[in-house]
Amino acid sequence: VTPQENVALAPQTTLRVGGPARYFAALEELDDVARALAWAAERDLPVEVLGGGSNVLIADRGLNALVIRVRADRITPLGSGRVDVDAGVCWDAFVAWAVARDEAGVECLSGIPGDVGAAPMQNVGAYGQEVSETIEQVVAIDRLSGEQVVIEADACAFGYRDSVFKHAAAGQYVVVRVRFRLTPGGPAKIVYPELERAIDGDRSLATVRETVVQLRRKKSMVLDERDDNRRSAGSFFVNPTLEPNVFAELQQRVTAELGEDHGLPSYPAVGGLTKVPAAWLIERAGMGKGTRRGNVGISSKHSLAIVNHGRATASELVAFAAEVRRTVRGRFGVTLTAEPRLLGFDSDETRALVD
Ligand SMILES: Cc1cc2nc3c(=O)[nH]c(=O)nc-3n(C[C@H](O)[C@H](O)[C@H](O)COP(=O)(O)OP(=O)(O)OC[C@H]3O[C@@H](n4cnc5c(N)ncnc54)[C@H](O)[C@@H]3O)c2cc1C
Repeated sequence: VTPQENVALAPQTTLRVGGPARYFAALEELDDVARALAWAAERDLPVEVLGGGSNVLIADRGLNALVIRVRADRITPLGSGRVDVDAGVCWDAFVAWAVARDEAGVECLSGIPGDVGAAPMQNVGAYGQEVSETIEQVVAIDRLSGEQVVIEADACAFGYRDSVFKHAAAGQYVVVRVRFRLTPGGPAKIVYPELERAIDGDRSLATVRETVVQLRRKKSMVLDERDDNRRSAGSFFVNPTLEPNVFAELQQRVTAELGEDHGLPSYPAVGGLTKVPAAWLIERAGMGKGTRRGNVGISSKHSLAIVNHGRATASELVAFAAEVRRTVRGRFGVTLTAEPRLLGFDSDETRALVD
């Protein structure tokens, strides 16, 4: 493992902002992970893990760290739908592989950017499916001991855009492999109303995959070099899930602001909570699609995506996201949570996105 020095990170992220990594290493072999961790430990350097860079916002100063990317990319079927997938496999390539073999379980997650190793982090989900439905175990290297550990699905504490890897185990592991349990010959999951409406007759996995990608394309939710909204991290905020009393307060507030026929959408979530679309709140707070402040703005196709129009800095993106958050809170009293991981910032630089 010989890391390169001073490597630009912006081109390795979908937002295309942020400064360089002091050191960077792409690791082709899983054994290299422990070696890279030891290399950093000898130099007292922190380690950051980067996948496809589609859910991170890196500070303009860059990262004074060893940044590693796991590039190992084997897919090893184990029979009966079980499959081991290395962290460096492109997520969508894995979905395509599963669909081509007629193995159900990840078809609705077609078109999500990034690597397999990052998928458990926030329990990626879309169109009524979440990766936690098929993950059997996550294999990782413990960053402190350098030892390989197996984390069974039950211990991953998967929730809506959430897992143990964002909380108790934050920064503890480098994921090197994920074991999935797919369903050979199983039916596609068609439960999301928008997907149900778009599927006409043929309910095969291949059709569902194609339809999901088409739906996503209309919202600039697939990476496409020709798309003006392409420099984003997908949804910048997660949909708030509210306690019953908080949801009742929101309904009152929305009625006061917008009148009786406001049409606030809401969906039941686990634990008696109610999920409200952040996109609706942002639009109704007055920051609709295409809202622009210089180099940054809201995607013209999706009010939850914040885009870099080409020359933005990380600080401009943070300031704009903070404005969106402040505006929603001011109008409706709901505090949005940013979805991308913010890397390399001082706490006072991101306070307006966290407090
Ligand atoms: C256009 C677009 C659409 C999107 N749509 C969706 C969607 O529909 N649903 C959804 O859930 N997400 C969506 N996302 C977000 C993103 O694609 C997912 O979160 C994805 O899993 C991130 O993968 P990545 O490899 O790019 O991770 P990165 O952005 O590189 O990293 C994300 C986090 O995971 C950590 N990480 C990455 N790899 C590892 C590893 N091997 N071990 C330990 N930690 C690791 C990083 O340190 C970081 O904290 C979208 C993003 C974009 C740009």
